[in-house]
Amino acid sequence: MNSYPKKNLKSGCEKTESFRCPKCKDRGLVYNPETDAMDDCECRERTLYETILRNSGISEAFRKKTFDTFQDKGNRELQKTKIAAIMYCKEFKQIQDNVSNSIAFLGQVGAGKTHLSIAIANNLMSENIGVLYMQYRDVITQLKQNMLDEYYYQKEISKYKNATVLLIDDLFKGKITETDINIMFEIINYRYLKGCPMIVSSEYTSDKLLNIDEAIGSRIIEKCDGRMIEFVGGNFNHRLNKRAI
Ligand SMILES: [Zn+2]
Repeated sequence: MNSYPKKNLKSGCEKTESFRCPKCKDRGLVYNPETDAMDDCECRERTLYETILRNSGISEAFRKKTFDTFQDKGNRELQKTKIAAIMYCKEFKQIQDNVSNSIAFLGQVGAGKTHLSIAIANNLMSENIGVLYMQYRDVITQLKQNMLDEYYYQKEISKYKNATVLLIDDLFKGKITETDINIMFEIINYRYLKGCPMIVSSEYTSDKLLNIDEAIGSRIIEKCDGRMIEFVGGNFNHRLNKRAI
């Protein structure tokens, strides 16, 4: 994800270059003839989020989680889940502006929820769609530690509110406080009102999310209608939710 394709040297002086973003040739800027100025290219958000990942030291592990490396353990339920994740990527540009434009992987530990969430992120990023990775526990702790610094807090939380796509990994992992719920409501409600897509993974099922906080749970359910994959019981049995709220 982060390594640029090498220049492909052929014979003599003939060389061909490939760019991750052919539009700007990886410069991040494109010429706008109407204003006679350089504009940010659509790939800028993606490159920014890749830099954040690199700085957090998880870039390499993140990049390795693809659909190809997903272990379905020969389990039909997991195979179907993987197909649903791939379909989401294929349909993304058509459904991006719909109310239900998000996907969630909920329930049982060990089903590969994080892996599939990140595989979707990698796939969308390869299409120059900005996906911000939010490791729930780390981010919520950091936001709470900085709540008294209003300027910093607003600057940080606005990243999660405004990302084109937000991946919330392991939502509500650990002990849940009232402040955690308030912060997550601020982010999720903002994205709900603006119609921005989310990829959510959580050990909680939709019923449990509703129990934790009805407003948060119902917004996630609505945004993920038809794409809420819940692992319930053993053997990775899952149900694809299309439920009324
Ligand atoms: Zn570009």
